[in-house]
Amino acid sequence: MHIPGIKYNHSCFLCSIGSEYLIKSTGEYIVKVNPHPFNNGHVVVISNEHKPLGEVTPLELFSMLKEAASLMRHLRHIYNPQGFNVGIVNKPHAAIHVVPRWNGDASFVAVVFNAKPVPELPEKTRDNLLKELKVNGQ
Ligand SMILES: [Zn+2]
Repeated sequence: MHIPGIKYNHSCFLCSIGSEYLIKSTGEYIVKVNPHPFNNGHVVVISNEHKPLGEVTPLELFSMLKEAASLMRHLRHIYNPQGFNVGIVNKPHAAIHVVPRWNGDASFVAVVFNAKPVPELPEKTRDNLLKELKVNGQ
């Protein structure tokens, strides 16, 4: 993923997301808050290695999907969204984006300028999720 107008210091956007956005790390994947969120609560489950979807093992993919479902439960608890967009990115990592959605959240700015003002800073999303996982995590 590349967002126009933002300079990255790494060729891979997902690897360039700093550890300050890290929510969770396992042997198979990591979870990071997207520092350039499409909406409040936007998180990404990222395969540990640069492996496209076709190269992660079925067990790795299952673990990542299970994590995405768990994150949706936690995000629902924190943000009470009306739904989610879940998108799978293929390269260079297999990555699952989880984006909470609310009715009417696509605004004039989003449509015309291809950019979206998000009221919550990613750091706040990280703090909310870390607190939620500490209280209600498995
Ligand atoms: Zn990477």
